[in-house]
Amino acid sequence: MKLCRFDDNRLGVVEGEFITDVTSAIQTLQLGPPQPGLGDPLIARLSDLQAAIRNGTFDRRIAVDAVKLLSPVAAPTKLVCAPVNYLDHQAEGFADPAIHHNRHVAKIREVALFLKATSALIGPGEPIRLRHLDRRNDHELELAVIIGKRADRIQAEQAFEHIAGYAIGLDMTLRGPEDRSFRKSIDTYAVLGPWLVTADEIEEPNLDMMLRVNGELRQSANTRDLVVHIPQLIEWASSYYTLHPGDVLYTGTPSGVGPVVPGDVIEAYIEKIGTMTVAVTAA
Ligand code: MN
Repeated sequence: MKLCRFDDNRLGVVEGEFITDVTSAIQTLQLGPPQPGLGDPLIARLSDLQAAIRNGTFDRRIAVDAVKLLSPVAAPTKLVCAPVNYLDHQAEGFADPAIHHNRHVAKIREVALFLKATSALIGPGEPIRLRHLDRRNDHELELAVIIGKRADRIQAEQAFEHIAGYAIGLDMTLRGPEDRSFRKSIDTYAVLGPWLVTADEIEEPNLDMMLRVNGELRQSANTRDLVVHIPQLIEWASSYYTLHPGDVLYTGTPSGVGPVVPGDVIEAYIEKIGTMTVAVTAA
């Protein structure tokens, strides 16, 4: 199932070029007031939500092109990110001083994972609003994994049971010497979309991915070339902190990262998920 959030916080199921508005299915879950520490309430109840959608009747259908797509996850507690998780991106980082700034490009096992602020999260219907235009702002195309079940110190073998689904992530990045969590947490610098594809639709997440800027191909790769794969990333992250439903894991970017400027249009594609188009403006 492809689940999206759109317009004024509506919930939709995407089929082809159309969205069915299934917002009323949420009522059947009888969600109480939000409780701290439990993560995103809708993602936490995803299988119940899917059952309510399958059993419900919904009349309103809208063209995908006619809505504003929001982040498919409303309230993650963390955006967990893997740095330099493709060897070809590590190589380009070492080769380009604009990217590595002396010490940021190291082997992922040495640098470990970092966090982006959740306040940076947007969907593809909202523009990326660039700041610090005198410096380089780069796109990073990444497969995003959405956690479905509380994961505390779990083993890699159990990791897939904890995944709700997948989406396309853009880990937008201001280049420079500051800590990653600072440069990558600018408002709008975490794009997630165009929808959440539930894990049952992607048994083996070895997926082709591509990113174009103004039609020009910049990144093209397959997630099978990750250095640290998804189960190991989940084991590693959850050995430090509990992953909650709705938490997002940005799995890292392949080579081809490059600058964007206001007026650019980013088109990002991942196999079995889809394509999203995101506008770039100045803040
Ligand atoms: Mn990244």
